[in-house]
Amino acid sequence: MRHPKQAKQLVDRFGRTVDYVRISITDRCDFRCVYCMSEEMVFLPREQILSLEEIYLLAQCFTELGVNKIRITGGEPLVRRNALDLLKKIGGLPLLDELVMTTNGSQLVTTAEQLKQARVSRLNISLDTLDAKKFKELTRTGELSVVLEGIQAAIKAGFKQIKLNAVILKNRNDNEVVDLVKFALNSGIDISFIEEMPLGVISSHNRAEAYYSSDQIKADLEAQFTLEKISETTAGPSDYYRIRGTQTKVGFISPHSHNFCSTCNRVRLTAEGRLLLCLGNEHSIDLKAVMRAHPNDTDKIKQAIIDAMELKPEQHKFDLSEQPIIMRHMSSTGG
Ligand code: SAM
Ligand code: SF4
Repeated sequence: MRHPKQAKQLVDRFGRTVDYVRISITDRCDFRCVYCMSEEMVFLPREQILSLEEIYLLAQCFTELGVNKIRITGGEPLVRRNALDLLKKIGGLPLLDELVMTTNGSQLVTTAEQLKQARVSRLNISLDTLDAKKFKELTRTGELSVVLEGIQAAIKAGFKQIKLNAVILKNRNDNEVVDLVKFALNSGIDISFIEEMPLGVISSHNRAEAYYSSDQIKADLEAQFTLEKISETTAGPSDYYRIRGTQTKVGFISPHSHNFCSTCNRVRLTAEGRLLLCLGNEHSIDLKAVMRAHPNDTDKIKQAIIDAMELKPEQHKFDLSEQPIIMRHMSSTGG
């Protein structure tokens, strides 16, 4: 239930209201997915990362400015020590309607139940393949069986929604889109397919050559299933369909083929405390500097957030044929 006094105060130059924040609580991860990280990643020194207390204070400020949905992400959020304590605190913020999380699933066997208790209502779990060998190739360090057990643990814990996220790369896992949807159907959960975005320099493949469009995925699925467009949206960039005769929703996140910027309602907080106004641009402000210069002065912090709305660009521009103009990886962006 929304607090009656909660006014939406974050509005950008294009009239878009920001009421959704994605918070990356760490840039570290136990996987090294080929589209997200290079093999040898250099992570931020700990002192550059926001403390859990600082993250909580910022989350509180956001909610007081009208943000009603927070997604905790990373890196892998569950590898941060005491992440569950932070989630519990954020889940208790009185002005927050929804706390959700994105995870690679590697720690869910031991944490799913506690996440549910921390009032995380929905989980996005990344799963790009059902083939153990390919899973190892794509994540470099991950074990498929552990993630599959984690998904089962999450289903058992009874979240309001569980959605798989699958990044599809041509000639690597594009032949699995039907099987991934069947897996979602059999598990009674949803799935979104994501076009790879050119964030950060990676070494494993050429992003332009690996491009596999949402339209192509949709066509592959339509050979097997009847997809019915649904108008309901979840404050996100996905275009949703329901598999006829089932509860399973299939989403398409298409930063290249279907630009979703005009309805953008979100900003991102990086693990080092930069407020990013757009996934596909560098516009940002250093909230950590504001916060450390004025400890606990929430008025100063809130004013900095309000002022930052002026910087939110109209749209992202991704060009797969060029070197990435965005040098930060998705893991440090808070996808
Ligand atoms: N570690 C968690 C996970 O993998 O779910 C949360 C962070 S991860 C950066 C968030 C999402 O971003 C994942 O679903 C991942 O597949 C996606 N992702 C990472 N790099 C991407 C890229 N270059 N293009 C598109 N999606 C990407
Ligand atoms: Fe880690 Fe998620 Fe990036 Fe994979 S996509 S390397 S799991 S942060």
